[in-house]
Amino acid sequence: MGSKLVQGERLWRRLMELGEVGKQPGGGITRLSFTTEERRAKDLVAAYMREAGLSVYEDAAGNLIGRKEGTNPEAPVVLIGSHVDSVYNGGCFDGPLGVLAGIEVVQAMNEQGVKTHHPIEVVAFTDEEGARFRFGMIGSRAMAGTLPSEALNYCDANGISIAEAMRQAGLDPHRLHEAARKPGTVKAYVELHIEQGRVLEEAGLPVGIVTGIAGLVWVKFTVEGKAEHAGATPMSLRRDPMAAAAQIIAVIEEEARRTGTTVGTVGQLHVFPGGINIIPERVEFVLDLRDLQTEVRDQVWQTVAARAQVIAKERNVRVTTEWLQDMPPVLCSDEVKHAAEAACKQLGYPPFWLPSGAAHDGVQLAPLCPIGMIFVRSQDGVSHSPAEWSTKDDCVAGAAVLYHTVWQLAQGQ
Ligand SMILES: [Zn+2]
Repeated sequence: MGSKLVQGERLWRRLMELGEVGKQPGGGITRLSFTTEERRAKDLVAAYMREAGLSVYEDAAGNLIGRKEGTNPEAPVVLIGSHVDSVYNGGCFDGPLGVLAGIEVVQAMNEQGVKTHHPIEVVAFTDEEGARFRFGMIGSRAMAGTLPSEALNYCDANGISIAEAMRQAGLDPHRLHEAARKPGTVKAYVELHIEQGRVLEEAGLPVGIVTGIAGLVWVKFTVEGKAEHAGATPMSLRRDPMAAAAQIIAVIEEEARRTGTTVGTVGQLHVFPGGINIIPERVEFVLDLRDLQTEVRDQVWQTVAARAQVIAKERNVRVTTEWLQDMPPVLCSDEVKHAAEAACKQLGYPPFWLPSGAAHDGVQLAPLCPIGMIFVRSQDGVSHSPAEWSTKDDCVAGAAVLYHTVWQLAQGQ
């Protein structure tokens, strides 16, 4: 059905071609922000945009943008977007599918001579994943005008700040504010993305419509004890921050499970000094905590924080926490949801609704404009891994739903 609207072969070929950029020996993709790999990816995407007949430019945040003019060039723009940066050793669908499907949609419209009242822009946002600086969605925050200037001081593992990395990439951090769009200039933002979960697979459907995006906090824990010899220090005399960290992580799991909806994860842990025969002096780890309801998430956090202090007291270690990110949940707009629902019905897919547990650029754009998302089925729910996969048919189905959705949004007066 969808193949008549969009050229599935072309979309798939570009997806596989872009998937070669930043590919590691093990098959995973590493394309961190402001690196040469990301630059190569953006250059390739810019070439696709030109093939699609779009006028191409980059804004002050490095967001790559391709524009199809509307019959009223002054009308608010309909944005389609996603990202081309990746996590460490990620897959080739997370991000690129949304950008390339957006390009395919407008290229197909141009080839069919379809004109729209509203201009349409396809955006590849700068650093959605946050893999390099532990601070993501840089491009979409800049576009919404909400990127805090102190965030530019965050550093990567080599001590290079966001501001410095921008300069190395030829961008001027002092001009970041120029990337901000004015209120009222964006009609809606629509993103096609892989689901990264197993809900659509369980439902036996290629495409779903997103109801909202779960809120997220990242909290850095620092646990400080006393570094001593592993052989010479009896268990009773220790102030071991690693044992305390392990206990706190178990508490996180227990408290998140209790709610039935909250998910809590510790995926990063650093041990200092990190010797086999040394009781650590300090352990740092980062908690990722999410829920669609802020109250539930905050309740879990408060309980975890209180229990962590009890553990600290019992073990005579010091536990301090620092909030690295706090994003409230965001609901998708009725207008975009209705357009996506009509698109699904028109194409013969039963409209299926699901929340997004993963955060996306739409969270940052929500203060600027109505947002919505369309999910494509993920095989085994795998993501942020070289094994990430969605079938060609499912990707094309998603692109066709995106086509109809964007077409409806771009028609309106
Ligand atoms: Zn993504």
